[in-house]
Amino acid sequence: MNSQVNYKEPAPIVDKENPFESMMERFDIAAKKLGLDEGIYNYLKTPVKQVITAVPVIMDDGSIDVFEGYRVIHNDILGPSKGGIRFAPDVSLDEMKALAAWMTWKCAIVSIPFGGAKGGIKCDPAKLTIQELERLTRRFTANLLDVFGPERDIPAPDMNTNEQTMAWIMDTYSMHSKKNVTAVVTGKPMILGGSQGRREATGRGVMIVSIAALQKLGIKVNEATAVVQGFGNVGSVAAELLSEKGVKIKALSDVNGAIYNSKGFDLPEVIKYVEKNKTLAKFPNAEAITNEELLEMECDLLVPAAKEDQITAKNADKLKCKIIAEGANGPTTAKADPKLKEKGILVIPDILANAGGVTVSYFEWVQDRMGFFWTLNRVNTRLERMMQEAFVKVYKTAGMYDISLRIGAYILAIDKVAKTLKIRGIYA
Ligand code: NAD
Repeated sequence: MNSQVNYKEPAPIVDKENPFESMMERFDIAAKKLGLDEGIYNYLKTPVKQVITAVPVIMDDGSIDVFEGYRVIHNDILGPSKGGIRFAPDVSLDEMKALAAWMTWKCAIVSIPFGGAKGGIKCDPAKLTIQELERLTRRFTANLLDVFGPERDIPAPDMNTNEQTMAWIMDTYSMHSKKNVTAVVTGKPMILGGSQGRREATGRGVMIVSIAALQKLGIKVNEATAVVQGFGNVGSVAAELLSEKGVKIKALSDVNGAIYNSKGFDLPEVIKYVEKNKTLAKFPNAEAITNEELLEMECDLLVPAAKEDQITAKNADKLKCKIIAEGANGPTTAKADPKLKEKGILVIPDILANAGGVTVSYFEWVQDRMGFFWTLNRVNTRLERMMQEAFVKVYKTAGMYDISLRIGAYILAIDKVAKTLKIRGIYA
């Protein structure tokens, strides 16, 4: 019997560095600098809604397994809440709370009219069949019918969920609504109302802010070198687009290890190799190196685009890059922040660097509601403008307060949400 009860849980992420506390450490510094009113501080640190729901599923062998599903809405002052749904064994409420808050700040920074949310189901998707995954997704959606909605809360793909998952959510929601509601999710297949450019949007956004940062530091783009950790959706697109701009990509990695070539990689060739071999390992004409060596390599730009907690108090001292563009969510722990500042490394924080994805998700939602779809060129031009504007605003705020870009980004976001809250007032 495929029983969830017997499943041996891996250590949850919260044991390494509690992601909510990590977010709150930065939030607290920014709130203090801003002189945030205590009442508003209390309001903004508390998620407006936290749902834990049991998701029973009839497994293929006829048995019933019960999974735990979560949806946390951190804030919806700026608009309907927006955030991904992840399926993983270590999904926890604390992780959802942190990621939901990050979404609130991210949307505020890129000036899109959304609040922040995150959801997930504690499960091991690798052990579930496609039919079981469909039933799991549909039941989770049915449990959250009064939470989701194009004007209320809009899910998107995240870890181990994809276009197909979004199609099931959209279909389940539409069946109950007795009409097609495409705008209830983003990251859908194009055929169901997805947007051009959504797949590449996060990596493209990382490239845009990285180029802006290189220019700020006076580093010539076509003489710059970069190292990219993680070769999935975000890392591979960021690496390819940076190399198209003339940046030399010296090292790349995936979960199986890292590769180095002092002359730089031909990205289309690497992408073709990974499509065929599913990994970077044994890529010809490259030296195999460790993940640590990759992170500590001398370069202008380091793009962590794999997972959280990669740059910590333990290795921050050893980094030799000039800029870090955080493609992943939470790749740097709060304890590493002061060390990076001391070393003079310019960190483009995740809530700015990887906001390209949610920006094009917003475009998708707009297009679905208009029933009129944009060209790829229009999507990319608007994304470029919004990411550049956000970078300039964060850079200016950081300069004004003489603080890091990360705290500058938090200040900008908290200030915007707080001002909106003040104007709206607290409903009695
Ligand atoms: P993905 O699953 O497509 O790719 C992850 C990559 O990281 C893979 O190449 C994997 O092999 C590699 N990896 C995993 N563990 C590693 C390790 N220990 N060392 C080196 N490489 C490792 O995921 P993705 O969509 O590219 O997301 C990557 C990060 O970006 C995540 O933190 C995610 O939350 C964040 N993010 C993604 C999006 C998006 O639109 N996809 C948007 C915002 C943030």
